[in-house]
Amino acid sequence: MKKETAPINTNLHIRILVAICLAIPAGLLFHDPWFTEGCSFTGNLFLNALKMLIVPIILSSIVAGILNLPDVKGLGRIGAATALYYLSTSILAVITGCMFVFVIKPGLSHSIPAGQILGLSKQALADTVNLTSSSLSDMKDIFIRMIPPNIVAAAAKGQMLGIIFFGILFGISGQLINPDRKKILATLVQAVFETTMKMTEIVMHFAPVGIFALVAKVFSQTGIEALKPLMIFFLTVVLALGFHFFVSLPLLLRLFRVSGFKHMKNMAPALLTAFSTASSSATLPITMECVEKRAGIPNRISAFVLPLGATVNMDGTALYECVAALFIAQAMGIKIGLFKAFVVAFTAVITSIGVAGIPAASLVAIAVILKILGLPVEAIGPILAVDRILDMLRTSVNVFSDSCGAVIVSRIEKDG
Ligand code: ASP
Repeated sequence: MKKETAPINTNLHIRILVAICLAIPAGLLFHDPWFTEGCSFTGNLFLNALKMLIVPIILSSIVAGILNLPDVKGLGRIGAATALYYLSTSILAVITGCMFVFVIKPGLSHSIPAGQILGLSKQALADTVNLTSSSLSDMKDIFIRMIPPNIVAAAAKGQMLGIIFFGILFGISGQLINPDRKKILATLVQAVFETTMKMTEIVMHFAPVGIFALVAKVFSQTGIEALKPLMIFFLTVVLALGFHFFVSLPLLLRLFRVSGFKHMKNMAPALLTAFSTASSSATLPITMECVEKRAGIPNRISAFVLPLGATVNMDGTALYECVAALFIAQAMGIKIGLFKAFVVAFTAVITSIGVAGIPAASLVAIAVILKILGLPVEAIGPILAVDRILDMLRTSVNVFSDSCGAVIVSRIEKDG
C-alpha cells in the first residue's frame, strides 16, 4: 500500500548526537536538584509520548502486516526466518560474551579472585532483594502471559507478548473471512497504522530535547566515579557489545549483500533513542520508522519482525547476562568449566527472550543465572552502580539486531 508520510528528517540523528554530546558534560557538571528534576520532568514527557504509541503501533502494525500478506502461508515463511535469525544472533552474542570474559578475566585481579569488589552496601543489597523477589515469579509467568485473559489489561500493563499473540491471531483470522470484508478491515487497520507512524514523526521532532534530558539525568546521578571500581568489568561489556555491534552483525548483513555501515546510518535515530531511553519497547515506534522509511524495508516484514524483536530478541541483553554472571562467579573464586559456561549461556539465551524491553530488566535474569550457579543473588549489588550506562549500550545493540533481522528476513523474502 502507498505510503503518504514523509521520511524522518535526515539530519535528526546529527541533532540527537549533538544533544547526547552536550548532555554528558552537562550531567557530569550539574548535580543541583533543580537540574536533575528539570531533566527528569522533560525526559519523562518524551518517554511517555513514546510509550503512549507502543500498544497502537504493535497492534496496528502486526494486524496490517498479516492482512497485507497474499496468504497465511507467507506468515509461516517470515516467522521461520525470523525465529532462525533471532536464535542464531542470540547464540552468537552469548558466545562472544563468554569469550571476552575468558580472555580478559574481569573478575580476577593479578590472577586472584577480586572478591572484595563484591562488598555490598546495605542499600544496594536491599534494592537487589526487592527487585529479585518480586520479579522471579514474573519469569515463571512468561508463558501464561503470552495468552492474556484480558487484552485491555495486558495492554494497560504493557505485556507485549500478550498483545503480539492477540495481534497475530486477529490478523490470521482476518485473512480467513469474506474477501470483501477483509479488504475493508485491511484498509482501516493500515490507515490506523499510518496514523500512528505520523504521530511518531511528530514526537521525534522533540527527540533532541527529550534525549538531552534523559542522558543528562543519568550522568548527573551516576557520575564517572561509579565506573572506577568496576572499570575492567565495564570495559569487558563494552568491548564484547562493540564486537557484536561492529563485527558480528555487519558480517551477517554482508552475507546478504547489505552494507553494515549504511544500515547503521539508516538506523542512527533509533540507535540513539535506544541509548538514551534504555528501552527497546519505548524505541519501537522509531525503529519501525527508520527501518521502513530510511532502510526501505516493506511494512509486511517490519510489522512482524520488529514488534516481536523488541520483545524477544535481545542480543545485547543475553551477552550482558553472560558477562555479568561469569564476572561475579570469577570474582567469587568459582571455577567455571565448559559445562557451567554452557549452562550460563543457555540460560542467558532463554531468559533474554522473556526479559521485557524496559530499563534494567536483565537484572532479574542475571539473578536467575546466579541462583542456577548456586551463587548469592545479592552479589549483583555492585554492578548496579554501572548498570544504567551499560543498559543504554546493550539496548542499542538489541535494537540494532532487531533492525538487522528485518533487513535479512526481507532479503530472504526477496523484497529488499
Ligand atoms: N533495557 C533493555 C532493553 O530494553 C533490557 C535489559 O537488558 O535490561 O532492551
